[in-house]
Amino acid sequence: MTFTPDPFVHVIDHPLVQHKLTLMRRKDASTNSFRTLLNELAMLMAYEITRDMATQDIEIETPLETMTAKVIDGKKLVLASILRAGTGILDGMLKVVPGARIGHVGLYRDPNTLQAVEYYFKMPKDMEERDVVVVDPMLATGHSAIAAITRIKALNPKSIKFVCLLTCPEGVKALREAHPDVHLFTAAIDRQLNSHGYILPGLGDAGDRIFGTQ
Ligand code: URA
Repeated sequence: MTFTPDPFVHVIDHPLVQHKLTLMRRKDASTNSFRTLLNELAMLMAYEITRDMATQDIEIETPLETMTAKVIDGKKLVLASILRAGTGILDGMLKVVPGARIGHVGLYRDPNTLQAVEYYFKMPKDMEERDVVVVDPMLATGHSAIAAITRIKALNPKSIKFVCLLTCPEGVKALREAHPDVHLFTAAIDRQLNSHGYILPGLGDAGDRIFGTQ
């Protein structure tokens, strides 16, 4: 993992992550391969993001003897997906953390103001005892991520991380200013946003590419 000058911004520069991201960016990637690659990337990213999960020692029996071994501690993690593109990341992450609980935040971007408008919000119970990972493939203007995290924070979870595939300097700045306590994980920080709120060079509309609606 590359450590940026900001200790809350983590670029996952593992060669497999970078290779798969390049394949996803190509405009000729089919819907099927885009989805498969996103799934694989999400698994690899989940591995990095869960690196600091707390463990506890328990006593178990192997076929040969009794031993003390580690298991994940505490209430199950929450993966909070920002609809609709966040759904594309969930499958891969669930392969690595199959017991995770799932939350959904439904937000759409007003095409004129680019502001996030909420239409759905559902989280598991006992959020104050849980760690939350908010997922959305693209952190562009930051409006959706900021709005989703603000709503989730009101439930007082133990911690919140934000995971995306791609972001840009504008998105990083916006999220860091609004939520300085939230760690941001991404596979790349691209050059800039365009006037329509798309990341350049980017990979286009992630939702459209996942669901084949372009
Ligand atoms: N959302 C996307 O899907 N793509 C972008 O480039 C920006 C926001």
